Amino acid sequence: MNAEEAGPAERRSRDWGTVMNRVTCEAVKLEERGGRTVLLCPRCGSGSLQHLGVAVYERAERAPFALQVSTRRSNVGIEMVDADQADNPSANGHGVALQLYCESCSGDEVQDIELTFAQDGAATLLAWRFPPRDL
Ligand SMILES: [Zn+2]
Repeated sequence: MNAEEAGPAERRSRDWGTVMNRVTCEAVKLEERGGRTVLLCPRCGSGSLQHLGVAVYERAERAPFALQVSTRRSNVGIEMVDADQADNPSANGHGVALQLYCESCSGDEVQDIELTFAQDGAATLLAWRFPPRDL
């Protein structure tokens, strides 16, 4: 599924501070450059993605609460959050969200792209979360 097929999905964003419309996209594109592998932006295809922070969600399977540990600008946050209200990319287990800024298409947004890892049974799912540019 790509971003156009997924359509906007409204989600609350704890770190972004406002309700945002975000799409999910499962296609992770890479480019080989001089023997190194570069992650490409899911929205514009640029290879200029900067790391801004990371959020890690520790949640026992289907537990009502999750431990959220996040880092951003030399700050660390640790809190227990309602599992249904958290931005955990996993619906019922552990998750990780790497927050990124694209030098080519993020513009004034300070953080609007996330590469996520979600526990789903015995599998780990990889996906993107980001607002489409036409919002
Ligand atoms: Zn981009």
